[in-house]
Order: sequence, then C-alpha cells, then structure tokens
Amino acid sequence: MTYFLHRAPSILLHAARASMAPGSPANGAPSSAGPADPSLIEDLVAANRILANQGVLDGYGHVSARHPGNSERYLLSRSLAPELVTAGDIMEFDLDSNPVDQRGRNMYLERYIHGEIYKARPEVNAVVHSHSPAVVPFGVSSVALKPIYHMSAFLHRGVPVFEIREAAGMTDLLVRNPKLGRALALSLGDKPVALMRGHGNVTVGSGIPFAVYYAIYTEVNARLQLQAISLGGSVNFIAPEEGKLYEPNIAGTIARPWELWKKKALRRA
Ligand SMILES: [Zn+2]
Repeated sequence: MTYFLHRAPSILLHAARASMAPGSPANGAPSSAGPADPSLIEDLVAANRILANQGVLDGYGHVSARHPGNSERYLLSRSLAPELVTAGDIMEFDLDSNPVDQRGRNMYLERYIHGEIYKARPEVNAVVHSHSPAVVPFGVSSVALKPIYHMSAFLHRGVPVFEIREAAGMTDLLVRNPKLGRALALSLGDKPVALMRGHGNVTVGSGIPFAVYYAIYTEVNARLQLQAISLGGSVNFIAPEEGKLYEPNIAGTIARPWELWKKKALRRA
C-alpha cells in the first residue's frame, strides 16, 4: 500500500464526447510498457469511483496514472462515465496520447491534458480532470481560490487559472489537441491544482491518492470559501507559512482517508 506514495500512477478524468483517435491504427501504434501491477489498476478504478462518490466527477471527467514500467506511457479508461470504470476499461497511451492498442474503443477527447502534463512534470504520476461544480466560479471570478482550512493547505502554493482564449482564441473550451494540453500544462506550472476558466480544473500528484485528495479538497475548499464570503465579513485565510508548515501532515496521513474512500468505492462495485 505504500507504492503510491512515491511511484503511483497518475490519473485523469474527463468526459465530454468521445472520439475515435486519429492516427491510432495497429501499425504505427506505440509499443506497450507491458502489464501494469494489478494493485495500481485497482487504485485507478477506485479513484474513478471515489471521485464520483465525492461529487467531484459525474458522467464526465477522468483520472489517469503514469505507467510504473515506462514513464513515457500512461493509463486511462476508455471513454466511459467514471463510476462505471472497471479494470477491463483501462487503456495505455503514449505521452502524445496515442493509444497502444485501441481495438475500436472510444477515447476521451481531452486525454491530451494527461499526456502533456506527464511530459511537463516528471514527478507527477497521477492526474485528475474534473468539472467539480463549486470550483467553477473561482475560474471565472476575480476572487481567487485560497486555502480556507488546513485540509486544503496545499492551495497555499497558488492556484493558476488557465485561460484558453490566450492559447487559442475562441474555442469550444475543450482541451482537444496537444497544443491546448501544452498550454494548460504551462499554466499549471509546478502547482498541484489549476483552474480552467469556464470549464473545470486539473489536479496532479506524485501518486493516485494525492491527485484524488487534491481534487476532493479543492472542491470542499471552494464550498467553504463561498460560505465564508457569504457571511459578509472579511475572510482570514490560511497564511502561506501555515500552509507550508501543515503540508507534511497531508503526506503523513493520506493513507487513512484513502483506505476509507477505496473500501467504500470498491464495496459498491
Ligand atoms: Zn473537461
């Protein structure tokens, strides 16, 4: 149960419409890194369901994990609502987001989010893309998302907002090609969370549990911050120094909520 602390995979979700991948025929397809550890696949399946249980993902969004056997490959479900994902739905992609073995399966249009972030962030092994609802207002408002309590202390590092218009002008807002994926990864920088204006957000971690934790507590923080603002007074946020001092506690205790979330998610399978 400790592999994820340092070498976990990355996950990413998204949903929108699926498409057959261009240029993904059997000939010319990237080589496989081989079978991934079944426990990693189990965590990836669990992550999909946990995030659905927590209201971070609905019919849309996705979670991915970097392949432990080859840092140039990642694992992501075929296009499917996250709550329905099983081990048999997990596909392998190269970092250009070409499938290793498509077999006619539909793929998430926004999978480039995952591939381009893995290219830009070698230490990242899991990616979540969601449209978690309470976070969306902070991507369109001049009010910044800031850490309101210790559980979301990781937000002290700053929360960039990806403005897709700056990358490509008027679009349908979907990260549907590598160029847009690179622009999003550039906006994310070295942070654990980036908001996507008018769309959703991405969270990244050194392993699946971290990316999931960040996605859940970014959503919770957004709800609490909205509540604090609605009280009408000034809001006293966690200071950057406090956030920095608290962060090691997340790494030290993350196994506790992860075990709970995973048990509940897989029980429902
Ligand atoms: Zn999306």
